[in-house]
Amino acid sequence: MWVGSQAVFERPGKPLEIAEFVTPDPRPDEMVVRVDLAGVCGTDAHRLAGDIPAPDVPISIGHEAVGTVVALGSGLATDRAGEPLEVGSRVYWTPGGPCGRCRECTMHIYGCSRMRYPLPADEPNPATYKQYAMLDVIIPVFRVPDEVSNEAVIAFGCALPTAVSAHSRAGAIRSGDTVVVQGSGPVGLAITLLAALSPAQRVIVIGAPRRRLDRASALGATDLISIEETTPAARRERVLDLTDGRGADVVFEAAGRLEAFTEGIPLLARRGRYVVTGLYSGSGTVPFNPVVINNRNLTIVGSLYSSPEMTYRALQLVARHGDRLDFAALVDRRFALEQTEEAIATAVRGEATKAVLDMSLASAAR
Ligand SMILES: [Zn+2]
Ligand SMILES: [Zn+2]
Repeated sequence: MWVGSQAVFERPGKPLEIAEFVTPDPRPDEMVVRVDLAGVCGTDAHRLAGDIPAPDVPISIGHEAVGTVVALGSGLATDRAGEPLEVGSRVYWTPGGPCGRCRECTMHIYGCSRMRYPLPADEPNPATYKQYAMLDVIIPVFRVPDEVSNEAVIAFGCALPTAVSAHSRAGAIRSGDTVVVQGSGPVGLAITLLAALSPAQRVIVIGAPRRRLDRASALGATDLISIEETTPAARRERVLDLTDGRGADVVFEAAGRLEAFTEGIPLLARRGRYVVTGLYSGSGTVPFNPVVINNRNLTIVGSLYSSPEMTYRALQLVARHGDRLDFAALVDRRFALEQTEEAIATAVRGEATKAVLDMSLASAAR
């Protein structure tokens, strides 16, 4: 068994508790993984703020990690893609695993109806703000290739599978197309990366602060529009200027703000496609005239949930491009497990491109 700490969330307004937890030996279809780096994500802030329905019982949190296998059940010899695993293998995983047996799973509909998430804190589980995680057989877990660093894998966190999903929902981007990305947080940057790897002619990123726009540029954005220095009208004018008055073929919303929707639809060219990626919590409405959907032949799609496939594809992207594009440089703030709350606050204030919990710091602080 393994004795370590974990962050426990009870309810909004109550500080996270860092509590000791004893992880037992794995059963045949489980593995115990020592968390090395856990990514801090905007979703955690929404959880703490109460934007997401509160759980019935205290839960473990954190859903992005790379770690090292410390014990492997007798029935497990490979990851979910068939790569061999052994004690000492580095792995990347997503805590929520689709059951594979419900109607949604059978029909390949995103969002398993029996997903075990969030995870009660009093049971061994695959959450990531902890020193030792227990992964059972349904968890999408993939071996990290030896030449790929932990930092490169965690740099985009869940934003990369989210972006892979969003691009798959958007459909093909063709030569000559213009893509607009609203937002330059991790999801916006990951979508920018994929758009830049496509044959798109232009990849226009609308966001802030300058540091993140510079990252977008390094990942392949062709044009940057600072949201701090422009009005919505000026941004639309700029997009029209850059597209000879046509507008964008694909607009990705990765801003997580309702106003982005109102601003984004008029950026579309005729037959344009709008992909909602960042709006998933909170409440509110926006004025919207649906006639434009028909008269301009628009497509508006949502893209919530990423599947094990997207986690796998994201890891392949890191293996192929992580070094060349220096993904690891996105990780610019590190915190100990005891500083989880501060790490989340730092990410919310936009002070980090990617904040991580580094568990080697956690044990040093103890
Ligand atoms: Zn995340
Ligand atoms: Zn299912």
